[in-house]
Amino acid sequence: MIISLTGLFCIILFILAIRFMATPKTANMGNYLAIISMMMAIIISFSPLPENYLWLLSAIFFGAIVGIFFGEKIKITELPQMIAILNGLGGGAATCIAMAEANIFDQSSTISLLGGIIGAITLSGSFIAFCKLQGIMKKRKIFASSAIVNICFLLIMTLAVFFIDKQSFMVDIIFCIALVWGGFMVYPVGGADMPIIISILNSFSGWATVAIGFSYSNILMITVGTIVGASGSILAYIMIKSMNKSLLKLFIQSDLLKTEDVTEKIPNEGSPKDAAFIMESAKNIIIVPGYGMAAASAQYAIKSMADILEKKYKINVKFAIHPVAGRMPGHMNVLLADAGVDYEKVFELDDINSEFSETDVVYVIGANDITNPEAKTNHDSPLYGMPVLDVGKAKVVFFVKRSLNTGYSGVDNPLFFAPNTIMLYGDAKKITEDINKILEQ
Ligand code: NDP
Repeated sequence: MIISLTGLFCIILFILAIRFMATPKTANMGNYLAIISMMMAIIISFSPLPENYLWLLSAIFFGAIVGIFFGEKIKITELPQMIAILNGLGGGAATCIAMAEANIFDQSSTISLLGGIIGAITLSGSFIAFCKLQGIMKKRKIFASSAIVNICFLLIMTLAVFFIDKQSFMVDIIFCIALVWGGFMVYPVGGADMPIIISILNSFSGWATVAIGFSYSNILMITVGTIVGASGSILAYIMIKSMNKSLLKLFIQSDLLKTEDVTEKIPNEGSPKDAAFIMESAKNIIIVPGYGMAAASAQYAIKSMADILEKKYKINVKFAIHPVAGRMPGHMNVLLADAGVDYEKVFELDDINSEFSETDVVYVIGANDITNPEAKTNHDSPLYGMPVLDVGKAKVVFFVKRSLNTGYSGVDNPLFFAPNTIMLYGDAKKITEDINKILEQ
C-alpha cells in the first residue's frame, strides 16, 4: 500500500517536473522535482531488497558516480551530445531488460520484444546522433534510397514481432538487427532535420520503457515512459510543423546537396571598429544567436553588448531565437538565460520575423542555416521548407563567424554576399568583446 502510494506520488512529481520545465523561470524547480521523483522511483523499485542486492547497489553506485562525473564535467556547450547519450542509455537499458527476460525464460513476450527493439534502435541511433553532434561523423554518404533500406528493416521487424518463435537466441539476433537499423535510420539524416530525429529518439526511449513496463506490470515505468514518450512525440511534432517537414520525407529523403555556386563572389568585410560605429547610430538592433555563440561561449559577451547598447546609447535591443538554432531544442534560450538575458527581450521566430524590415542593425553571432534565404527559394536545398529569420531585410546585417564556411546543413548562405551584409571574421567571443571595448570608450 505504502509503495503504491509512493509510486503515485512519484508520478505526480514527474508530471509537475515536466510542467515546471516549460518556462525558464520555473525550469530549475522542475529539475529538482525530477531528481527527487527519480530517487524515490529507484528506492521503491528495489523495495524490498532482492537477494542479490549487493550487485544492484554496486551498479546504482557506479551509475551515480559516472552520472555525477559527467554532469559536473560537461560544458554547457556540450549539452546536446550529453542528451543524445542519455536518450541512447534509456533505450539500451530497455533492451538489456528485454534480453535478460528472454535469456532467463528462454522465451520472450511480444511486448518485451517490441520494447527491446525500440530500445536497440534508440541506442544505436542516439550513438550516431552523438557522433554527428560531436563532429566525429560530419559528411553524410548518400544512400541510393534510404526509403528502401528502412522499409526492409521495418518488414524484418514486423515479421520478427508477430511470426517467429521468440526463443532467446532469436531474440538476441533480432536486437542486433534493430541496432543496425537504428544506425541506418539516423546516418543519412542531416541538414535541418537532426533536431527532429533527436526528439524522435527521445520519445522512442520513453516508448521502449512503456513496453518493458507492460511486460513487468510496472505502473511507474508505464506512466513515466508515457510522459517521456508523449512529450518527445509532441516536441517532434512541433519541430516537424515549425520546419514545414513531413515525417515520411525525413526517412526517405535523398540528401543530394545542390546549391548555387557562390564561391566567385566577394563579400563585404568589416572590423569591430566599423561595427561599433554603425551600431552607435542605430535606433534598434536585433541579435540573432546560433551554434557559433555556443561554441565560443560568447553568451556573456553578448549580454554585456546588449547592456552597453541599451544603457549608454539608449538603443532598443532584442534577441531573435530560431526553433532549431544551435544543436538542441531550446539551446539558445538556455545559454541566454545562463548569461542573465531578460526573458522579455527574447523573441521566437514567428513573433519577430516581421520586425527585421524595420530594423537598423542585425547582429548575427555564430548563426548560419537559420538565416539562409535558400530555405524559401531553392527546392534542392536540404533546408527547403524550413522557416528562416529574415535578417536580410534589415538595413545592415553583421555576420560574426570565422570564415565563409557552411553551417550544420553543409550548404552555402547567399546572404553573406548581399550588399547590406558585413562579415566580421573571427571567434564570436573575441569579436564581440572587441566591439564592447570600443562601445565603452
Ligand atoms: P549553423 O550550424 O548553421 O552555423 C553555425 C556557424 O557558426 C558556422 O557556420 C560556423 O562558421 C560558426 N562558428 C562555429 N564556431 C564559431 C566560433 N567559435 N566563433 C564564431 N563563429 C563560429 O548553426 P545555426 O544555429 O544557424 O543552425 C543550427 C543548425 O544545426 C541547423 O541546420 C539545425 O537543423 C542543426 N541542428 C540543430 C539541432 C537542434 O536541436 N537545435 C540539433 C542538430 C542539428 P565558421 O566555421 O565560419 O566560424
